[in-house]
Amino acid sequence: MQNTQPCKLAEAVSDISLSYQVDNYPIHIENTIGIALYPQHAQTPAELWLKAEQAMLHGRANKLDISIYNEELNQQFVRRNLLFGQLRHALSTQELSLHFQPQIDLKTGRLVGAEALARWRTGSGQYISPAEFIPVAESSGLIKPFTKWLLSEFFRQTAQWWQAGMNLHFSVNLSARNLADPELISDLRHLLAFHAIPAENIVLEITECSFSDSPDQFMMTVDQLHRMGFRQSIDDFGTGYSSLSYLKDLRVNELKIDQSFVTNLTTEKSCIAIVKSTIQLAHNLGLTVVAEGIESEEVAAFLSQAGCDIGQGYYYSKPLPVDAFFSYASSSTTP
Ligand code: C2E
Ligand code: CA
Ligand code: CA
Repeated sequence: MQNTQPCKLAEAVSDISLSYQVDNYPIHIENTIGIALYPQHAQTPAELWLKAEQAMLHGRANKLDISIYNEELNQQFVRRNLLFGQLRHALSTQELSLHFQPQIDLKTGRLVGAEALARWRTGSGQYISPAEFIPVAESSGLIKPFTKWLLSEFFRQTAQWWQAGMNLHFSVNLSARNLADPELISDLRHLLAFHAIPAENIVLEITECSFSDSPDQFMMTVDQLHRMGFRQSIDDFGTGYSSLSYLKDLRVNELKIDQSFVTNLTTEKSCIAIVKSTIQLAHNLGLTVVAEGIESEEVAAFLSQAGCDIGQGYYYSKPLPVDAFFSYASSSTTP
């Protein structure tokens, strides 16, 4: 293929990626072209078609106009398919669980909350990271049954602790797909009605990319969740590409500084500037600031000095299984 052809293709893709008006409804068509070459990538028409489709799916997931097949892409595809099958199975067995990572008030040193993090150990004992399986769930229909399991387990456990007198905030992660799901609000409403835990003790962690995908719907959902009484936190703050101006209209309570800025805080000057500015920005907007990924006493002390409110990280504790978290909380000073 000559060099000029991908450029012409890119032009063609953007030409068809237009918005149309049909019966007063705006319709936006997005296109991605997947390319596989004969004989480099495949020997038969069926194989060539499959590889072009893999390239197209990769392009669509990464918002590319054109995507060309390569071997690494094939390996990713095989791994994802395998995980998809295993995860579907895991949802009907007891392979998934929740761990809780303590959150500490940086001024008083007291335990004030915990973040729930999903854990998956397969039947053969293999541990699969949520950083790997959540994207697989998100890109397939599995995020829906996964979130049903996650929320029901999260509410069941935290309500039990709340009734036992554990007066903490409990955070749970929601993905962009969850926020776009019209059933999320009614599911949460049912869970709140069923479990005796106040909504203001629950923190929903959402990410900036949920905003850039569909800003209007995102703002509306956040607003509804706010009216239901939930606290909301912007997770991985500083790693997204969305504009800062959205923050002033968003009904959230908390910013979570991404661990990439925190872990090397005392050695990297740029991280110091980002963290200090984020703390100031959050406080000016009346928001609580949480720093995650604290791995040393030095970083904890720096953050406390800089006015950060809450800290989370291996320095205090790794995410703990339910029983271990209960023991940790029982032996800690709580508010
Ligand atoms: P996250 O929400 O940013 O979670 C923080 C991650 O940092 C967790 O990884 C946690 O174990 C890890 N971590 C905590 N303290 C430290 C530290 O001091 N140093 C280092 N290096 N790492 C630390 P984990 O559990 O592997 O989760 C990875 C990501 O997977 C999460 O990032 C979140 O985006 C996603 N995830 C996890 N559980 C869920 C879930 O239940 N639902 C959804 N939608 N996403 C989840
Ligand atoms: Ca999180
Ligand atoms: Ca995070």
